[in-house]
Amino acid sequence: MSNYSHLFFDLDNTIFDFQSSSDIALKVFADALRLPYDQYFKDVYHKHNHEAWSKFEMNLIDGITLRKDRFENTAKELGQSIDGMYINRKYLQQLVEHPFFIDHAESTLQKYAQTHTLIAVTNGLKEVQKPRLKKVGFDRYFNQVIVSDEIGVAKPAHEFFHFAWEQAGKPPKSNVLMIGDNPYSDIKGGHDFGFDTCLFDAFNTGKKSELATFQITSLIELKHIIK
Ligand SMILES: [Mg+2]
Repeated sequence: MSNYSHLFFDLDNTIFDFQSSSDIALKVFADALRLPYDQYFKDVYHKHNHEAWSKFEMNLIDGITLRKDRFENTAKELGQSIDGMYINRKYLQQLVEHPFFIDHAESTLQKYAQTHTLIAVTNGLKEVQKPRLKKVGFDRYFNQVIVSDEIGVAKPAHEFFHFAWEQAGKPPKSNVLMIGDNPYSDIKGGHDFGFDTCLFDAFNTGKKSELATFQITSLIELKHIIK
């Protein structure tokens, strides 16, 4: 067990169950197109969403185009046209309105907020991240909330972690544990910056990372890692 003073938490699929929220939120899109909200619809959307995010992460498109394209390109493939920004706004509102939690998320934050400095580090969109934390009252557990969309650089970039680390008060890097579900953005990013890392596989998908200091499948297991 190490004596960490600062815990950096990813949010989506670490604290929040993003997939469950998105499943509800996406229905507004299907309704707007008057299409059945079935697996085919979801698959087409996820393909275009993934494509838009990949381009965004490679700096090929900006944040506005990302928000718009995923909906407009999906509509196009389905033989329709739609105002992507309008649907994007509705979709993000729904994400905030329907938060779901990963098991033990609140008790974990509550517990460690008493003894540790907690920092939220997320690559999500600014319309969602802080409003959602506030809505469920989790904002009170975090000393800082760092949203990539607000600072213009995302995990795993060194600049992202440097900014978050500065906001955290520049603790010794060996005192920081980065906890997240993404082997690349959370684990490689945290590791390369000099933090210990904990890969959290909440849905037990068997994901692995050679760089992770620890691997867990339940937040309860943090008690074996954090003093
Ligand atoms: Mg995540």
